[in-house]
Amino acid sequence: MRLLLANDDGIYSPGLAALASVAAELGDVHIVAPDVEQSSMGHAITHSRPITIKRTIIGAYDAHRVNGTPADCVALGTDIFPGVDAVLSGINLGPNVGNSMWHSGTLAAAKQAALLGIRGIALSTPTGETGPDFERLRPWVARVLRLLLFESAYSLVNVNFPNDPTGLRWTRQAVAHYDGRVVPIQDPLGRSYYWLSVRRLEHLEEGTDHWAMRNGFVSMTPLRLDLTDEAALERARASAPSLHSI
Ligand code: MN
Repeated sequence: MRLLLANDDGIYSPGLAALASVAAELGDVHIVAPDVEQSSMGHAITHSRPITIKRTIIGAYDAHRVNGTPADCVALGTDIFPGVDAVLSGINLGPNVGNSMWHSGTLAAAKQAALLGIRGIALSTPTGETGPDFERLRPWVARVLRLLLFESAYSLVNVNFPNDPTGLRWTRQAVAHYDGRVVPIQDPLGRSYYWLSVRRLEHLEEGTDHWAMRNGFVSMTPLRLDLTDEAALERARASAPSLHSI
């Protein structure tokens, strides 16, 4: 199996090295990742300038760094390495659950794969106070990748690992609340700045990705790319039938 690895934390992230060490036991690994951090860049692509790809070494792995976004890396990587069976993105330093999926560059790399007809898997974990313990997560990462690569064939899956997992759960995206918030601060000269930050959600619906993570389960959410609101479409068509007779 040919695996393309990407991320949004940048090519030198320990999460990418941790993912590579597990993925290398499952297939041939190619690494194409941003040369600097691209977190929260979402699914941006670089269209107003050409991008470069340069060889580098990550541990024992041949790797390439790109001066572009996570989606750029997958677009370029799948073109340069034909026959990629799946794209693995991560392991992100920070969770990507609920509505934060909209901002996630980690997930965008996996989405770019899905757009190209290649399976995409995004993997993320909270950093906690001291950073993730990738050795502790390693058997869980291996278990999830075996399940998603060899025992199932979902086109796009968003996976989040709690710090100390106790089991796996298939989940849905928590969409009831948005956890984004703006936090004002001042610099030493009294000038105003703002953090675009997040707040802790208190009421979590059982079966969601947020809920799984809060309860110590690895969360696996199968996703689709079709954003169409089917119910709204039905209502719209029913409310204006004359539009369709023109
Ligand atoms: Mn990131």
